Amino acid sequence: MLHNSIRKNWLEVYENPLNLSCYENYYTALVLCVKHNIRFLTDVMLTQNQLSFLLDVDPRQCAIYNPDVQLEYEKIRVQKLLRLTNFTKHDFVRFVCNTLNDIISPNSGRDCPSEICSGGGGGTLRYSKYEQPSGTQCIILECDYCTYAESLDNKAIIENGGKVFPISKKDLSQYDLDIPV
Ligand SMILES: [Zn+2]
Repeated sequence: MLHNSIRKNWLEVYENPLNLSCYENYYTALVLCVKHNIRFLTDVMLTQNQLSFLLDVDPRQCAIYNPDVQLEYEKIRVQKLLRLTNFTKHDFVRFVCNTLNDIISPNSGRDCPSEICSGGGGGTLRYSKYEQPSGTQCIILECDYCTYAESLDNKAIIENGGKVFPISKKDLSQYDLDIPV
């Protein structure tokens, strides 16, 4: 069951038209909703799906480029979800993570080629910034469903303890990224 406080604060996000006037505002409103209810979430929920990472991102610094999320339909989408009797706080966390990630990670439009994702129904590759343990930074493509990631020249990246960040507006102008309009 979804806690009443989460349900109430979540619905309130859609009562204020300002929250849906741009992606930056919507991102911030969802983050505030989670932070108000953080006591109901476990440490595991905060680390899974990179939630604690997403809560610290400043969306105004991010390259927001053509997200799949449609602001004008978000209220209807959420009302539908809340009508499901078995909707849990795990589902809430998944919704928030998918939505925040969609807003700040530009979609390349390419399907993920990993074994987990191939064969349909898998993830798509999204742009992120990657910092290797040596401090070197580069732009990568990351699957939004599994853990697959690759460099811009399509070489699979083996996890080596580096850190992933959202790409910034500056990165977007600096690199010639192939983003479908
Ligand atoms: Zn994948």
